[in-house]
Amino acid sequence: MAVKEIMEALARQSVENKKLSELVKDIRLVGDKLELIFVLPNKSLESEIRDKAMTVLKEVEGVENFEIKFAPMGQPVQSPGFHKTRLSGIKHLIVVGSGKGGVGKSTVAVNIALALSKLGYRVGLLDGDIYGPSIPTMLGLKNQRVEVDKFNRIIPAEAFGMKVMSVGFLLPSEDTPLIWRGPMLMKALTQFLFDVKWGSLDFLVLDLPPGTGDVQLTLAQTVEIDGAIVVTTPQDVALADVKKAVVMFKEVGIPVLGVVENMAYFVCPESGNKYYIFGKGRVSNFALAYGLKILGSVPIEPAISETSDSGVPIVESSPDSQSAKAFLNIAKIIAEELERR
Ligand code: ADP
Repeated sequence: MAVKEIMEALARQSVENKKLSELVKDIRLVGDKLELIFVLPNKSLESEIRDKAMTVLKEVEGVENFEIKFAPMGQPVQSPGFHKTRLSGIKHLIVVGSGKGGVGKSTVAVNIALALSKLGYRVGLLDGDIYGPSIPTMLGLKNQRVEVDKFNRIIPAEAFGMKVMSVGFLLPSEDTPLIWRGPMLMKALTQFLFDVKWGSLDFLVLDLPPGTGDVQLTLAQTVEIDGAIVVTTPQDVALADVKKAVVMFKEVGIPVLGVVENMAYFVCPESGNKYYIFGKGRVSNFALAYGLKILGSVPIEPAISETSDSGVPIVESSPDSQSAKAFLNIAKIIAEELERR
C-alpha cells in the first residue's frame, strides 16, 4: 500500500468540486491501521466525505484496517506522508538484515545483542523470522511460552539478561508450521514491536526476515528505526543480494550503520594460518563502493554453530574466542556510533 496509490484513488472522487485528495491533511499508519485525516471545508460535508473515502479505501489493495478522521476546522492542508512511530521506552531500535538466508544473520543478531548486554546496556531481541524462528533454539528457549498481562501485553521471555520475543513462543510445539500470508506476518511483527512489554531498553535488536520484501518496507514506514546492520558472507551470490538490502535501507531512509562480514576466514587450529575460504577483499570492495563501514569480520568457527545449537551463544560460552571478540568489538562500534548521534 503506497501513499501515492491512495491519493490517486482519492483524486477520482470529489465533493463540491474539490477532489477528495485535496482535502487530505494527513495519512498515518498506527500499528497496522491506516488513519486518513481530512480537513472539513464545511461541517455539513462530513458524512459525504466519509462515505466517499470509505468507498475508495475499500478498493485499494492492501488497505484492510482503516479509520477516517477529521481535523479541527480551519487547519491548512499539508502534503501527506506516513508518520513513523517511535517505540516508547526504547532508546535505539536497530535492525539486522541480509539479502539472503543462510549467511548467519540470526547468529550475528543474537551475538551482537548479547555483546551489547555484556557491555552493560539493557537489551531486547526480537526474532523477525516468523516462518523459521531460530532464536529460541540459539538462546536455549525452545520450550519457552509467553503469557499476556492484564492489559493484554505480551510478557517477553528472558535469556542471558536480555528480553526476547519470537513467534516460536506462541506456537504449540517446535514442529508446528506457521501458515500465514504476508499481511498476517506484518501484523505479528508490528504487534511484537508495539504490544510486547519491553520496558525501558537501551537497544532493541530486530532480526529481520531475510530479503528485501514488503515486510521490511512496511516496517520501515511504520516505526522509526535508528540503524541497520547488514550481514553478508564474502561469496558473490551473497554480495549480489546484500547490495539490494543496502539500497532498500537507503531508499526508506534507514541509516546503514555498516556491514558485518561473516564467515570471513578460517583459522587452522593446528598451524594457526588464516584461510580465506570464500575469497578475500570482496566485502571491503563492496563496502567501499557503497560508502559503508565494515563493522567487523567474523571467522568461520565450528564452535559458533555448536554453541548456537546448544542454546548458549559464543559470546557467552567462549568470550575469548576470535568470533566472540569480533562480536564484542562490533557491539562497541554500534553503541558508540548511536550514542554519538
Ligand atoms: P541466517 O539467519 O542468515 O539464515 P543463521 O544465523 O541461521 O543464518 O546461520 C546459518 C548456519 O550457519 C547456522 O547453523 C549457524 O550456526 C552457522 N554459522 C553462522 N555463522 C557462522 C560462523 N561464523 N562460523 C560457523 N558457523 C556459522
